[in-house]
Amino acid sequence: MVRNPLAFLLLLILAPAALPAQSAGLSAPQAAPPAVFGYSDFTSESRIEEKFLAVPDAQLAGRRLKILTAEPHLAATPEDRKTAEYVAQSFRDAGLDTEIVPYRVLLNQPKAVRVEAFDAAGKLLMTGPTREHVEGDPYQDDPRVVMPFNGSSGSGDVTGEAVYANYGRLEDFDQLAAQHIDVHGKIVICRYGANFRGVKVYLAEQRGAAGVLLYSDPQDDGYFKGDAYPNGPWRPEAGVQRGSVGYIFKYPGDPETPGVASTLDLPDSARTSPDGNQPRIVSIPLSYHDAAPILQALKGPGVPHGWQGALPFRYHLGGVADQVAVKVHLVSQQDYQRRIVWDVIGKIPGSEYPEEWVITGNHRDAWVYGAVDPSSGTAAMLESVHGIGALLRQGWRPRRTLVFASWDAEEEGLVGSTEWVEEHAKILDRAVAYFNTDVAVSGPDFTASAVPSLKQFIREVTRSVPSPAGGTVYDQWKNSRSESNEHRTSNAPSAAEEVHVGDLGSGSDFTPFFQHVGVPAADIGSEGPYGVYHSAFDNFAWFTQNADPKFVYLQEMARVLGLEALRMADADVLPYDYVTYARAIESYIEAAKRRAMDDGLNSLDFAPAQAAAARFDAAAQKAHSRQITATGDLGKLNLALRETESALLSPAGLPNRPWYRHTIFAPGEFTGYAAVVIPSVNEAIDARDSNRAAQQLAVLAEALNRAAHTLDSAP
Ligand SMILES: [Zn+2]
Repeated sequence: MVRNPLAFLLLLILAPAALPAQSAGLSAPQAAPPAVFGYSDFTSESRIEEKFLAVPDAQLAGRRLKILTAEPHLAATPEDRKTAEYVAQSFRDAGLDTEIVPYRVLLNQPKAVRVEAFDAAGKLLMTGPTREHVEGDPYQDDPRVVMPFNGSSGSGDVTGEAVYANYGRLEDFDQLAAQHIDVHGKIVICRYGANFRGVKVYLAEQRGAAGVLLYSDPQDDGYFKGDAYPNGPWRPEAGVQRGSVGYIFKYPGDPETPGVASTLDLPDSARTSPDGNQPRIVSIPLSYHDAAPILQALKGPGVPHGWQGALPFRYHLGGVADQVAVKVHLVSQQDYQRRIVWDVIGKIPGSEYPEEWVITGNHRDAWVYGAVDPSSGTAAMLESVHGIGALLRQGWRPRRTLVFASWDAEEEGLVGSTEWVEEHAKILDRAVAYFNTDVAVSGPDFTASAVPSLKQFIREVTRSVPSPAGGTVYDQWKNSRSESNEHRTSNAPSAAEEVHVGDLGSGSDFTPFFQHVGVPAADIGSEGPYGVYHSAFDNFAWFTQNADPKFVYLQEMARVLGLEALRMADADVLPYDYVTYARAIESYIEAAKRRAMDDGLNSLDFAPAQAAAARFDAAAQKAHSRQITATGDLGKLNLALRETESALLSPAGLPNRPWYRHTIFAPGEFTGYAAVVIPSVNEAIDARDSNRAAQQLAVLAEALNRAAHTLDSAP
């Protein structure tokens, strides 16, 4: 899975005023010898980092990528098992205590997927899905390439009239309703983009649709953007985006075991119905080759502004009673079984604080070959591990425990990571960081998202890693960011301010760590034009042609990932920046208050939450000076710093989705990937529910008071 580029825009809208982190006074002058936050003297650690940085190798990373992408390796297949063994062997070679950890989880694989469309006269318009094919791709014809399907789709055989619903966002369905187009019993056709695909199906199901077709419009990742594969990086006519439509914004992981680990010995009686965690209706993904004849034949009103895609005809909505134009027949037979998946976990015990884990993770399963998503991340992580292994051989030991994780069945809904987190929830109370990568390399532009307390940490790490384009990763990040400034909203920091680190929504394995058990987390990647997401064309040939021909960005990501882990594992004082965190929360509350006023919820009292945020801010400033001075019982100081993040969890969880417990960040119920800040408050305001908003403001104030108190308790 991956964050969607359009979701990034949403995130800028939903997460106002990401504060520039220099407010915390943490950033060291760039050229000076490193004064690194969290270390009273960085001299010896900087030598360790230098030794580490010398090891990750571009050619080796490329070789690893080639091995990982040699065969399609969908979760729970024999080829997936082979990649688990390869990763485990690489971990062992580097000296990690390694195990392959199985879980038994409910997953579907397709037995039959068919789409046919007819015009009003009963003439056949199309049948599909058409096999993915372009001129000359060496990987596409492997019989193990799974037919296009949606993870977590319902099974069924349904026929209905087609209605076009743009991106299938809440506002798109509202727009259809405003035009008196009822989607009840119909087949809704949505284009990919703007939100998580599971949200499209969720909304269609809520409104009574009989089925959903999801297609990739060339405007969003095809020829409208640039040349299509094999001539360029964008989606070809036959390319299909597979993907899960599970309701991960309610509960990710095995849909039968919310909050419980699906270990092999978990009895079936402990499993519950997956209803509510995944759709019952059928959904099928299509290429635009297959979607075009349906869209072209639709009648009814022309589409509203912003709904027209890049196919060469005028789009219409369909769905008008006396103008039935297209009937669509969907057949989807999904083979749901409890299947075995395999996480690979490698550990290096910490010499001083063994119970404080620093976890680095990336998923391994792919819809097909997954060169970018996720194998670029795995290749990079294995080179990080290679570098750490070289340190181990020289007698070095981390002060905290290092854990490296290769997750399975992420594509089906963050399954491998969620089950592992649920199994280890207790010890993860002490884990100090989770560093994720997923779509690690699709091009040269570094990006990051993180909990606010780690945003400055990520920037500092990137100042220590060279970029293949010259200077440091940080320098290039700053450059690429000012080039893309024109696309930014007024909320974006100006060019003089810090590089932007996004907020964590969902769509990858940081979710269970951060939003379920409160482990401070970050997610990094290196991006470029990428139109083959979740298709057979995300393969080694596409990668070497378009993303990173010399594998130097794999090497860069290996260095950044490894350095995140090393620097966190060896720090004297945990380098969390709670001042930036507190300021961000204050701005979120301020923005929510303005929205409540705009929406006429005037009676809401924001004062207690604002006072609690101010208390948290004051505690953060005091803690910051203690972090700088770094004297006394550092173990106790670190414990308080770590427990502050957990204090922001609500024991009862968010309304309607108790598995999500973080009071400050969640994936939006109607965006799926993009973060919603102070989610329970903002979603109550969206719903114009002032009782719930008042209740959730109280929960937020309580969490902030708890966090302030925890931080103040530091010695
Ligand atoms: Zn992925």
